[in-house]
Amino acid sequence: MRCLTCKNGSMKPSSTAYFAQLKNCYVIIENVPCMKCEQCGEDYGLRYFCCIISEHNC
Ligand SMILES: [Zn+2]
Repeated sequence: MRCLTCKNGSMKPSSTAYFAQLKNCYVIIENVPCMKCEQCGEDYGLRYFCCIISEHNC
């Protein structure tokens, strides 16, 4: 799978930490599974997860 941002790097399974601001609080979730580009570091799982947890803000 090629990275959609740099169109050169390959995506590898990884994990990351997600930081979100909700209505009245901040949330930090660690070890969120994602696909990360080896070259530019673009993180697609993070965006996807963001849409789930804050669907009303997306
Ligand atoms: Zn990339």
